Amino acid sequence: MLNIVLFGPPGAGKGTQSEKMIQKYGIEHISTGDLFRKHLGEGTELGKLAKKYMDEGNLVPDEVVIGMVDERIKSSKDSEGFIFDGFPRTVAQAEALDELLNSKGLGISGMISLEVPEDELRKRIKERGKTSGRTDDQDDKKVDNRIRVYKEETMPVAQYYQKQGKLTKIDGVGSIEEIFSAICEVVDNY
Ligand code: AMP
Repeated sequence: MLNIVLFGPPGAGKGTQSEKMIQKYGIEHISTGDLFRKHLGEGTELGKLAKKYMDEGNLVPDEVVIGMVDERIKSSKDSEGFIFDGFPRTVAQAEALDELLNSKGLGISGMISLEVPEDELRKRIKERGKTSGRTDDQDDKKVDNRIRVYKEETMPVAQYYQKQGKLTKIDGVGSIEEIFSAICEVVDNY
């Protein structure tokens, strides 16, 4: 089973590359951002709770995110594996994911970190905001906060996997195909 954490700041291209990876490897995509947006669209209690955090570009509390991912994994039958996109975003989430997978005799195969300079991220997020309809992509202050939160709360997650010898960094600037083939080279060696 392939269980991959696709890591990187907002705008790094995780969603785009995940789409290609699920097609090639037949694994399931778990994007916590997408799951929250789905709940928001459906007006569930979870969606209402998450909204106030998402609107400001802050992280939704760990226990809420972990509960949602736990349910998502449980609802999947006969899976070949998962790509975790936008999760884990805190060390507590990474620890919870390890526990969750370990309890099923599974584990993370590796983390792939897409490395993109900050000015390029801002450009991409602005561009995406024109079509994504995401308010958190369209407001400079929210984008600033998301990047700050990434640096402060999420970057330590890379060290968490590095300590386990599971981190590979990939240049996230280039064509979609170039980046995808660099990712495949890593995944094919898991
Ligand atoms: P994303 O689509 O991954 O950029 O996520 C959009 C927003 O959803 C984030 O700014 C957070 O408010 C929330 N979110 C998504 N994933 C997580 C997570 N793993 N932990 C906490 N909040 C999250």
